[in-house]
Amino acid sequence: MRAARRSSTDPRRLTPAPLLCDAWAMSEMSRRDLLRAIPAATAAARQAPAGEVRGLHLSAPRPDDLGLAVRFIREALPKEGVNLLVLEFGYRYRFSRRPEIREQDALGPQDVARLAEACREAGVRLIPQVNCLGHQSWARTTFALLRAYPHFDETPGAYPGNEGIYCRSYCPLHPELHAVLFDLMDELAEACAADAFHVGMDEVFLIGEPQCPRCRGRNKAELFAGEVRRLRDHLAGRGLQMWMWGDRFLDGERTGLGKWEASMNQTHPAVGMVPRDIVICDWHYENAPPTAAWFATEGFPVVCSPWRKPEVALAQWELVRHVRRNAPDAIGRRMLGMLQTSWVGFGPFVRTYFGEPPASPRAQEAVNCFRTLFEALRRAG
Ligand SMILES: [Zn+2]
Repeated sequence: MRAARRSSTDPRRLTPAPLLCDAWAMSEMSRRDLLRAIPAATAAARQAPAGEVRGLHLSAPRPDDLGLAVRFIREALPKEGVNLLVLEFGYRYRFSRRPEIREQDALGPQDVARLAEACREAGVRLIPQVNCLGHQSWARTTFALLRAYPHFDETPGAYPGNEGIYCRSYCPLHPELHAVLFDLMDELAEACAADAFHVGMDEVFLIGEPQCPRCRGRNKAELFAGEVRRLRDHLAGRGLQMWMWGDRFLDGERTGLGKWEASMNQTHPAVGMVPRDIVICDWHYENAPPTAAWFATEGFPVVCSPWRKPEVALAQWELVRHVRRNAPDAIGRRMLGMLQTSWVGFGPFVRTYFGEPPASPRAQEAVNCFRTLFEALRRAG
């Protein structure tokens, strides 16, 4: 499935929508910190133990699906017990501060305000996402950041037509990059009235490349950790909690998890170099390895992220409960819960959920997994 997921028809990518410092260890999240942003007096929150994440990850809706999106948020999410929604916007937002960076089907501020209001009324915490570092292209399409600023590319001029690579990366050491990137993140976070931001950072394969005069020859774990810290510090300075995918922090060789859901490109030592207040989204779609427990033991709040296999989702949920039952509270309380992924596009997922034909097999799988997992979550009380 991993190979299939990386095919050029992967819907995940057709709808573009993750210095050692003692102070960080000292500042690990308290339970109160973990709970503070979850709406307290809502139907969804009442269904879950306080602070538990019962989340869904979707690409941001296309403009013509906005009404459908509002209906889904208001009707389906509280009914299912969803209390957190990660919306992957990528560059599909009409950024006023950086209008040169925009994809097709971008949402405007009033569109996003409607989504945010629907989430607020439904008791759902809305977290916007822009993929940082990696995933700056898919197949032959280079995304808006590197189209507008091609000199931010980690491998500028190389791989014409994106042939021979998985996805482009931006250069984390380019001196002009972060002023642009932070404008995008800030504006989107404000539009969503968010208290957290998901920076992606999964599946980064191009890092420390020989084509980059700033990065070549550098330690890839230090490069990765440096970018994590840079993003985290910016977000923390604005009161925003950082979320990211966890795969680059896992040793793909030692764990046997391989190069997709873990790292085989020397980034994994970065896990020891970043603050412990980052929420790790530990995605595994074929099985339920104990990596979320490892992240929690390492000091990170963590959610488990399944995709389309109900048995995998239930096994990951059991892992969460097992650790909570059997580990010291310091570890158990970091097992925040579940974040179901979809990778089929907002419209197809939601239409399939509402029973509107035709449902593709992929959409049906993701919806079935979502329904099965959230039924189990509701049963758990
Ligand atoms: Zn570079």
